[in-house]
Amino acid sequence: MAPACTPDSCPDSDAPPVHGLIAEGRRYSNWGGHRATTPAVYVEPISYADVQSIARNHRRFPTPVNPVGSMLSVTDAIVNDGGTLVCLRKLDSILGIETDALGRDVIRVQAGCRLKKLNMWLKEREREIPFQAEIGEATVGSVAVGDTKESSLDGPGFFSAHVVELTYVDDMGELRTISDHADGADFYEFKCSFGLMGIVVECCVETRPARLCRSDVSLETYETPQQLARSLLERRGQCDALLAIVFLDKLVSFYDQRYAAGSGSLAPFPQSECEEFRIAKRLAIQRGFDGVATPQPKGILYSRADFVNEYWRPCKDEKRLDFQYYEHDISKLERVIAESYDFTKAFAAETGFAPGGWATYFVNRPPRAQKPFGLYSDGPGVSFSFDPFCSDPCAPQWQDFSRRYNRLAIDALGARVSPIQTQWLEKGDIAIPKRLARSRFTTRYFGEFLE
Ligand SMILES: Cc1cc2nc3c(=O)[nH]c(=O)nc-3n(C[C@H](O)[C@H](O)[C@H](O)COP(=O)(O)OP(=O)(O)OC[C@H]3O[C@@H](n4cnc5c(N)ncnc54)[C@H](O)[C@@H]3O)c2cc1C
Repeated sequence: MAPACTPDSCPDSDAPPVHGLIAEGRRYSNWGGHRATTPAVYVEPISYADVQSIARNHRRFPTPVNPVGSMLSVTDAIVNDGGTLVCLRKLDSILGIETDALGRDVIRVQAGCRLKKLNMWLKEREREIPFQAEIGEATVGSVAVGDTKESSLDGPGFFSAHVVELTYVDDMGELRTISDHADGADFYEFKCSFGLMGIVVECCVETRPARLCRSDVSLETYETPQQLARSLLERRGQCDALLAIVFLDKLVSFYDQRYAAGSGSLAPFPQSECEEFRIAKRLAIQRGFDGVATPQPKGILYSRADFVNEYWRPCKDEKRLDFQYYEHDISKLERVIAESYDFTKAFAAETGFAPGGWATYFVNRPPRAQKPFGLYSDGPGVSFSFDPFCSDPCAPQWQDFSRRYNRLAIDALGARVSPIQTQWLEKGDIAIPKRLARSRFTTRYFGEFLE
């Protein structure tokens, strides 16, 4: 990690005042309400100059300074007791489409912009980024340097792959811009840094003409986990992108088989069947698939941007999604499903608990040079995520399941995991290179993973 700049060694008194909202001693929690933190200072900058002053002024804004967006992350990524929590939500302008130095069409957007807003803005202009995950609340800054997954039509399936330029505030309060074409390896490393190298304030993201999507939705029951695994691969082979929700203990799987359906951003009317499915799916995700039946339409035609959804912040007694993320190479799919099934059945026999289901996404990995660390860093190939979820993040049995399953998934099955999407990680489960971290931005939680 880079050497610490202490209050005495930093010219903090020179930093101009911060104009955004500042609050002291308040408590903040994540979307699920199961992770909470009491920073010394919470601040919502309204200009890049504000972010620079925050980074510079060590007395007013104690170390560590941790950037957040919508605080959806399920892990302790947002926890920064006694430090400075910088929420970028008010820096959320979409600055326009431009052509970059390599002749690519890119959208310039501020870090606090939510993915739903970005997707709808692009849709109106008949453009898109291929990454159109279910989650519309996540902010661009977080997903540009953090982990994501989605079964994309003709795209890698993770947001940061599309980011070609970043503007950030470094630990000395300097505003810096880096890009794939000007900075190569340094830029790709930065995109694996979870905000530990700097606070992202602006990004350029590659766009393309909008495409429509057709979906066939179905449900199937199996006799064995091996049959289920083989069917997953078969279904994936039949379409252009597959999202599956596997009810593993019941050997049932829900499939959304997606097909590229030509250019355009407006599907022909009537849209009622599509809208009924979207609303049911949105509610199912909000509630962790607990007690929500989803229809199984065939041949619906839609813009994927419409299916990027917004989710209300749930109360503590409401059913709400909580999940664990695990990445595996596709060659391991049958083994992962069979061993996870055995584990789940044994856990259920012992405790009566089984996860509500397992979300399964497929992601295309880029060359290693473009994703040097963390998820998707094994070089070209296909990964799948097999992510158990539950409708109560505070349920002790779910937490126990997750802790124990971590050992099977990581130690025995060799899963890659995420510090913002996999809970209850232990030291050694992930390694973030020390050179990607600045002490000014490194919380205790992230510090545990530095090697
Ligand atoms: C209901 C629900 C559904 C979800 N569905 C999906 C899904 O379909 N696909 C998927 O991939 N994920 C999904 N997620 C996970 C979510 O998208 C990620 O955790 C995402 O990173 C959250 O974005 P955020 O703005 O809330 O980040 P926060 O939780 O606010 O921040 C997380 C971390 O991002 C970094 N960070 C944030 N802002 C900045 C910045 N400006 N500069 C530098 N670093 C920064 C920091 O390390 C921070 O700790 C879902 C989560 C929920 C609760």
